Amino acid sequence: MFCVDVAINLPVKNLFRQFTYVVPDNMAFLDTGWRVVVPFSAQKTEGFVVGRNDVVKNAGNLKSIEAVLGDGPWFDWEMLEAARWLSSYYMCSLAEAMRLFVPGKSSIKRTAVKDEKGNFLYYRYKERLKEKTVTAYRITEKGRAELKEGGIHLKAQIAALAALDGKGFLTLKELSKYKASPSVLRRLLERGCVEAGRRRILRNSYTAETERGEELLLTDEQLAAFNTVKDSINKNDGKTFLLQGVTGSGKTEIYLRAADLALKEEKQVLMLVPEIALTAQLVECFQARFGDLIAVAHSKLSQNERGDVWHRMRTGGAKILIGVRSAVFAPFEKLGLVIIDEEHEGSYKQEERPNYHARDVALKRCALAKATLILGSATPSLESYHEAKSGRYVHLRLTKRANGSRLPVAEIADMRRELADQNFSVLSRRLKEELVKTCAAGDEAIILLNRRGFSTFVMCRDCGTSITCPHCAVALVYHSAGEAMRCHYCGNTAKIPETCPKCGSRRIKFFGTGTQKAEAEIMALPEVRVLRMDQDSTAQKFAHADILKSFAAGERNVLIGTQMVAKGHDIPGVTLVGVLSADSSLNLPDFRAAERTFSLLTQAAGRAGRRDKDGCVIFQAYDAKNPVILAAAAQDYDSFAEGELKYRKELFYPPFSRMLKLTGLDKDRDEAQALAKRVVLFLETLQLEKRLSESVMVLGPFPGLVEKVMDLYRINVIVKAEDMQPVKDALLKSDFKEQKNLFFDVDPVSVI
Ligand code: ADP
Ligand code: ZN
Ligand code: ZN
Repeated sequence: MFCVDVAINLPVKNLFRQFTYVVPDNMAFLDTGWRVVVPFSAQKTEGFVVGRNDVVKNAGNLKSIEAVLGDGPWFDWEMLEAARWLSSYYMCSLAEAMRLFVPGKSSIKRTAVKDEKGNFLYYRYKERLKEKTVTAYRITEKGRAELKEGGIHLKAQIAALAALDGKGFLTLKELSKYKASPSVLRRLLERGCVEAGRRRILRNSYTAETERGEELLLTDEQLAAFNTVKDSINKNDGKTFLLQGVTGSGKTEIYLRAADLALKEEKQVLMLVPEIALTAQLVECFQARFGDLIAVAHSKLSQNERGDVWHRMRTGGAKILIGVRSAVFAPFEKLGLVIIDEEHEGSYKQEERPNYHARDVALKRCALAKATLILGSATPSLESYHEAKSGRYVHLRLTKRANGSRLPVAEIADMRRELADQNFSVLSRRLKEELVKTCAAGDEAIILLNRRGFSTFVMCRDCGTSITCPHCAVALVYHSAGEAMRCHYCGNTAKIPETCPKCGSRRIKFFGTGTQKAEAEIMALPEVRVLRMDQDSTAQKFAHADILKSFAAGERNVLIGTQMVAKGHDIPGVTLVGVLSADSSLNLPDFRAAERTFSLLTQAAGRAGRRDKDGCVIFQAYDAKNPVILAAAAQDYDSFAEGELKYRKELFYPPFSRMLKLTGLDKDRDEAQALAKRVVLFLETLQLEKRLSESVMVLGPFPGLVEKVMDLYRINVIVKAEDMQPVKDALLKSDFKEQKNLFFDVDPVSVI
C-alpha cells in the first residue's frame, strides 16, 4: 500500500493545495499522471495524480482512491512539467493548469449500480467522453481454414475473406472497396467464417476535398531558411526560429517542408493558427500535402470530437495537429516540431483565467521536448523581434515575394486635404477613382473599415492631433458627454479642451461615424457588387471560408469589412486594397496601439497584387504624416520596429519590462477600489521594507476602460518590472492568492 498526492479537478480558483489519498492494492499500478476518481468533501470528483507520497504517517485517516480513468496515465512527464510551470508563471493552481490539458472540463459521469431487488450497491464512474463505435468484422479461425482449403466457392465471399485475412476488424465501409456487401457478410457470419464486433472510429468534422499538393521549387531565400530549420529538426536541439517573411513570401511552403521532414524523422508536428476559419487556405494546403495524417482542432469541436482528435495524437494515429491556441495542450506520442503561424496575433492569448499565451506555453513545451519551434509572421510581435535581435531566437528572413510578384507600396490619401478641397465623402478622390477603374477592368478590391477605436477618442480635424496623456503618451479616452477624458494607464484625467493644444483650432472632433456611410457610397459606384464580411455575416461555422470562396470565385468584386478581410488569404484577382481611417486605431489607449495598427495595415496591403498584375493600395488618414502610417505604407517593418522599440524602452514597456495586471471585481465600486488599493499598499510596503526592488513600478488603482461588466466593477492595478517573478511570489505567498474577487493577468495583451 502507498499514498499519492492528487490535484482536485474542480472549477474553483482558490484551491491551491493537493490532497493525499491511499492507493488500494488493486490499483498498485497507479503512478504520477493518472486521472482518478476520489472522494472530496461530500462528493466524488476527478483528480490528477501528481506524485507519490511516501512520508504520510497515519494513512489510516486518509480516504482511498475510488477508481481510475482511462487505460494509462494521461499526463506524461513533459505535460506535467509544463503544467507546473504554467501554474507558477500564470499564478493559478496546479489543478487549473492541468485542466487545460484534458479534453473535457469535468470528464466523469456517475451511475448507481443496483442489485436485482433494486437495492443500491455502489456508484460506477465512467468518462463522460463517448467513444463513437461502428460494427466491424474480423475473420475467424474457421474462415481462415475455409479460405485456405477452398471450402467456399462464391467469388464475393472469397474476396471478402481474402480482404479480411491478416487484418483486424474492418468496417463495412472499408470492406465495400472489396465489393463485400452487407449480404455477403451476413452469409459469412452465418457460416461462422467471420465474427462481428465494434470498432472505435474517430470523428473529424473538418474535411476538405483538395487535390494532392505539389512541392514547389524553393526560392533561394526559402531554401536558406529551410536548411537552417532542417538542421535543428535533425539534431533535436529545441531551437526557436523567427521566420519573418513579407506577405506572399511563401512561408507556407517552408512550414510544409519542415513538417514533412519531421514526419520522416518519425516525429509529430503541432501547427497553431489564430483561427481555423480565417486560415482555411493554410489548412487545405496541409491537407493536400499530408491527407489523413492531419487532425484539426478548431474551437467549435464538441467535447467528444476533441477527445477523438487528442486520442489520435496520443496514439500516433495522426502526425500533424492543426489547431487554435488550446491545441497547445494536446498530448503527443513524440512531438518534434511546433509552428505558430501569424505569431503576433492577439488570439493566442486567453483572456480568461488561466490567462496563458499559447506562444509562451509552446516555448516551454518545446524546451522540455527538445522540439523545434518556428514563429512565422510578416509583422512579428515586438517581443519576438526583440528576442531574435538579441540572438535568443534564430532570425530567418524572406524579403521577396516567392512568385516574383511585386510587394505593393501604399499611397496615403490625406483626408484633411480632401476636406479642405470640399470633398465631404468618406472616400478620397483617389480611392474612388481606383475603385471604379478596378471594377471596370474586371478585377477585385478589398475595403477595410478600420473601425476599432471609433467614438472613444478626441482628435483635431485640422492638424490630426489626438489628445494624449502627458505621462504615458497614449490617447486619453472620452466616455460620454460632459465627462472628462481619462488616461487608462496612470489614471490621470483632463478636461476636453476647447481648442486644439497644438494648432489652436476649434474643430475638435469626437470620432464615431462612418461605416454605414462608407458602404452606401461604395455601393452607389458603377459596376460594384459588394460583399460584406463582419461579425453578423460570419456567425455560422465556416461562413468565413464560404464568403472568401464566393469572393475568390468572382461573383462579387468588392469585399468590405473589418479586420477579418485583411488577414491571411490569398485571392488572385485582388488588385486594389483601400483602408478607411487607417490612423484611427492608433489612438486607442493601449501601448500596443501602434503595433496593432502597423500589423493590420501591412497585412491588408499584402492582399493586393499577389499574381501578375501589380497591386494598388490606398491608406486614407487624417494624420497623413504619422510615422507608423508611413512605415506601413512602405511595408518597412524594420524602421517601424526600431522606432517603436525605442519608445517602449523609454517608457519601460514590454519587451523591456514584464507586466502584470491585477483586477479587483466587485458589485460595489468602493469594495473593488478598496481591494485594488490594498494590493498597491501591499506592494509599496514591500518596497519600503526593501523586500521588493524599487525599480518595480506599481500603477493605479484606476478603473477599466469598460468600468462595469455584467454588473461588476473592475478596478485595475498595473505592475511593470524587469523581473516579475519576485512580485508574483510575494502575491502568491500572501492572502491575495486566494482572494476570490482579485484576478491576475500575467503579460496582459490589453492593459485597459
Ligand atoms: P505567405 O504565407 O508568406 O504570405 P504564401 O505561403 O501564401 O505566403 O505564398 C504566397 C504565394 O506564393 C502562394 O500562391 C504560393 O503558392 C506561392 N509560392 C510559394 N513558394 C513558391 C515558390 N518557391 N515558387 C513559386 N511560388 C511560390
Ligand atoms: Zn490641431
Ligand atoms: Zn497617463
